[in-house]
Amino acid sequence: MNAFDYRAPRSLDEALTVLGEYGEDARVIAGGTALVTMIRQGLVRPTCLVSLRDVEGLGRIEATNGAVRLGALVTHREAEVSPLLRERLPVLAETFRRVATIRIRHMATVGGALAHADPNQDPPVTLIALGARVEIRRAGGERELPLEEFFRDYYESALEPGELVTGVTVPGLPAASGATYLKFLPRTADDYATVAVAAVITLDPDGERCSGARIALGSVGVTPLRARVPEALLSGQRLGEGLIQAAGEAARGEVDPLSDHRGSARYKREMTAVMVGRALTQAWDAARRSVRVAR
Ligand SMILES: Cc1cc2nc3c(=O)[nH]c(=O)nc-3n(C[C@H](O)[C@H](O)[C@H](O)COP(=O)(O)OP(=O)(O)OC[C@H]3O[C@@H](n4cnc5c(N)ncnc54)[C@H](O)[C@@H]3O)c2cc1C
Repeated sequence: MNAFDYRAPRSLDEALTVLGEYGEDARVIAGGTALVTMIRQGLVRPTCLVSLRDVEGLGRIEATNGAVRLGALVTHREAEVSPLLRERLPVLAETFRRVATIRIRHMATVGGALAHADPNQDPPVTLIALGARVEIRRAGGERELPLEEFFRDYYESALEPGELVTGVTVPGLPAASGATYLKFLPRTADDYATVAVAAVITLDPDGERCSGARIALGSVGVTPLRARVPEALLSGQRLGEGLIQAAGEAARGEVDPLSDHRGSARYKREMTAVMVGRALTQAWDAARRSVRVAR
């Protein structure tokens, strides 16, 4: 391991100034669950580590205009048990619960999970399906991106040197909607997914036709991705089991998985079709329940 400076700023402005000073040679550290391993393995060699732990104001989960905002330093465990998230977006709280072990969930942060851009992670999949937007700050400026545009390649995001993720804003579910997250992991309960699917289905007020569907997938490409072909297949249609299965089949053509110890690429493609069908069935059931409750 190489020697590096360690800085622990107490404000966002101070953190951004330090990042500006060191440029590409600085690395932010939040939970450290990924970065410490990468440093130990010599995959990254920062000359300065900038800890976000003492930065004020990044650790809140709050309601904003019908949406929920998660600060970058919120841990996976805090998101999992948050009463606000459990009430407004239970599918997201449940997704955080599916991450690894409780020890890791106590350390790993929302911002770290996004910036790390590992396509096997759970939270980005559900966040994309829910239409989340990521907040990015740099010294003297800020921008916001739909999360689905944030991931660029394997472990690569839209972040430029000197930029930080400061939070993610997740809109509430529309009326007559149901959402689900399914993580297929045939090895151990604390593993990364072999295939992960998040689905949101919104029905017309009559509860029969699908007015919109959002489907996101994890572990089946170099980034988490949106499955637009099956979404288009469902939109405006009267839902039924046959159509849901056809949408699952269509998702198979959207993915480009790698063969690894969690399964061959072919197996992951097959399981994508199966898991998308199951997720859509569950989301559809939940949407129908929400229509019945509203009547
Ligand atoms: C054994 C193990 C199993 C795991 N299993 C799963 C799993 O099944 N599902 C899952 O979803 N996750 C899993 N994780 C967690 C996941 O892989 C990452 O380790 C975690 O999300 C990173 O969060 P962190 O806060 O620890 O980031 P860090 O390790 O602190 O940082 C990760 C990267 O993000 C950058 N960074 C951190 N915060 C910011 C920020 N706010 N702005 C800009 N850049 C930032 C860092 O510079 C670094 O490049 C697992 C981790 C481990 C160690």
